[in-house]
Parts: sequence; structure tokens; C-alpha cells
Amino acid sequence: MSVLVYVEQAEGKFKKSVFEAVSYAKAIADQQSTNLTAISIGNVAEEELKELGKYGASKILNVSVDQLKTFVNQAYASVIASAAEKESADIVVLSNSFSGKGLAPRIAVKLKAGLADGAVGLPKIDGSKFEVKKTAFSGKAFAITELTSANKIIALNPNAFGVKENHTDVVIENFAADIKQSDLGTVIKDIVRATDKISLPDAELVVSAGRGLKGPENWGMIEELANLLGAATACSKPVSDADWRPHSEHVGQTGISISPNLYIAIGISGAIQHLAGVSSSKVIVVINKDPEAPFFKVADYGIVGDAFEVIPKLIEALKAHKA
Ligand SMILES: Cc1cc2nc3c(=O)[nH]c(=O)nc-3n(C[C@H](O)[C@H](O)[C@H](O)COP(=O)(O)OP(=O)(O)OC[C@H]3O[C@@H](n4cnc5c(N)ncnc54)[C@H](O)[C@@H]3O)c2cc1C
Repeated sequence: MSVLVYVEQAEGKFKKSVFEAVSYAKAIADQQSTNLTAISIGNVAEEELKELGKYGASKILNVSVDQLKTFVNQAYASVIASAAEKESADIVVLSNSFSGKGLAPRIAVKLKAGLADGAVGLPKIDGSKFEVKKTAFSGKAFAITELTSANKIIALNPNAFGVKENHTDVVIENFAADIKQSDLGTVIKDIVRATDKISLPDAELVVSAGRGLKGPENWGMIEELANLLGAATACSKPVSDADWRPHSEHVGQTGISISPNLYIAIGISGAIQHLAGVSSSKVIVVINKDPEAPFFKVADYGIVGDAFEVIPKLIEALKAHKA
């Protein structure tokens, strides 16, 4: 019995959400008095892999083959499932990220495991009872899920547990994954980025704007603010419906769900369907001229003011700070 954590890499680097998943998996391994093994797929340098030891992984299985250099859902799920079998891991943890959402159910099928996705806390273990608190109804409620199967998959919501250092000596082993041709039915041949902008699903900082911006011609200041912060840009649904912004920026119940460290909402009312996709952000800053805007109820910081006055001042202050 042990715990396995899948550590997702992006261009050979681990994000904060990975260190959080490792910290969480380590806490579960401690609950079970067992060790934590991590599995990394893709070309990650040894120095980067060793970073995982800071958060409690004592063994790392490293899969570094050309076929799996880029993310292939089915093949990655097979590799993670076979690593779990090799390690006799009955609990597999991963981040409930964009790719984690695709992987978790596939791994669950392969291991005949129960799945708790969108987990927000450590499992409550009482004898054979294993319960996980998770979000439900697009983040509007919580559910307590009991996993009754022998194998269990937990996909942790980003920012739900935090990164906790737990220095451990780490051993890195190459893992020879048995990849079947049927797992490679769809492969990514090449990645051509549409822009060099930061990808929204992975962004740690997001500047988002809504109908309060009046029209697409006013997004210059939003992009300038995002560039200064190193943030991705997002928008509300009516904004993308009106073609002011591309649909890839639409966040919410019918758009992308994100959990950045900082979400700045400008001229967005805070309708429940919008909040469904952004409410698990760690810190929410709302800028709205209406003090009664519902978004203020979930904001950590709020500025009641006209975006056309507040944003240029923010940009000016950031430029001065950077200088
Ligand atoms: C089934 C369904 C699914 C939906 N899915 C989504 C979804 O995924 N995502 C989503 O976003 N919406 C979704 N919606 C739409 C949602 O209900 C809201 O209509 C939408 O989020 C409102 O967008 P908004 O806040 O940009 O615009 P508005 O509601 O028009 O709000 C504009 C805000 O800007 C403020 N404002 C105006 N001028 C200024 C200014 N100069 N400076 C500062 N503030 C200003 C106003 O006070 C107001 O609060 C969905 C609706 C339905 C029915």
C-alpha cells in the first residue's frame, strides 16, 4: 500500500499546483503511514525532479521517451495506472487541472478505482471509511464523497490545500512504461502557439473584464495591465458572445474554470454563472463602479470606482513600481 502522485510538467518545469499536489499526497501518505512516490512523464531535468523532494516525495519514477514528450491523454493515463500497479499504490493523487480533469477518470477506469475530483480537503479516514470533501454544482456547494473501492483517485483543486515543505531524500528511477499502440491513436505532432500570451487555464494571475468595459476598443488598458503583471486575460460570457474577445477567454459555468492565485475582475457584475468558473481563485480583486455589484460579496479586495479612471492609475502605479 502506498500513495502515487502524478506531477504534470509544462515545458520541463513544474508549476506551483504540482508542488501543492505533492504536499497534499504527502499528507495522505502520512495519514496512511506509507511512502510517497511521484511519477513524471515528459522530459524533465534531474534538478527539477529533485525539487519534488522538498515537498515529501521520496521516490520519483521518471518517464522520458520521445513518444510522450507532449501530453497524450490515453497514453499518460496508461502509464500512470501501470506505475500505480508497480508501486502497489492504492491512492493516486493529481491536480484537478485542465489535463488532470481528462486524466483522472481515465486512470480510474484502468484501475477500477473510485474517483473524487475537485477535492478541497484531506480525506477523512475512519476505519474502512474513506471520505473526501469536494466541490459540486460548479463550485456552488460541497459534497462529501465516500470512496468504497480498494483503489482511489483524488484530483485536488488548485489552491485548496497550499504548498507545504517537507524535505525528504529523493531517489529518481527511470520507469520503462509499456505504451500500447492503441494508446497513441491521437498524438500531438507539433504545438504552434497562437500568441505568446500566457495560457489562461494555467495562469497564476488573471486580469478579466466584462461588459462594463463598453466595447472591444477599450481592451488596450486591460492587456497593458495584464502584461505589466505577467497575467493572462479573461472575460465574461457576454463579452465573448459579442465577439469583443475570443471565446477562449470566456470563463464561468459555460466557459473555462480557473483557479489562479489572483483574479482581477473589472466591470463584471459577478453573476452566479460567472462565479462558477472563478470562485476558487485564491485572491479575488473586484473593480466595479456599482457598490452593490454581487461580485463584491466574494471579493478579498474591492475598489468601487470607474474602470476608466482606476485602471490607468493602476497601470501608472505599476510602471512606477517596476521602474
Ligand atoms: C445558462 C447560462 C450560463 C452562463 N454562463 C456564463 C459563463 O460561463 N460566464 C459568464 O461570465 N456568464 C455566464 N452567463 C451570463 C451571466 O448570467 C451574466 O449575464 C454575465 O456574467 C454578465 O456579464 P458581465 O458581468 O460582463 O455584464 P453585466 O451583467 O452587464 O455587468 C457589467 C458590470 O460592469 C459594471 N460597470 C459598468 N460600467 C463600469 C465602469 N465604467 N467601471 C467599472 N464597472 C462598471 C456594472 O456595474 C456591472 O456590474 C450565463 C448565463 C446563463 C443563463
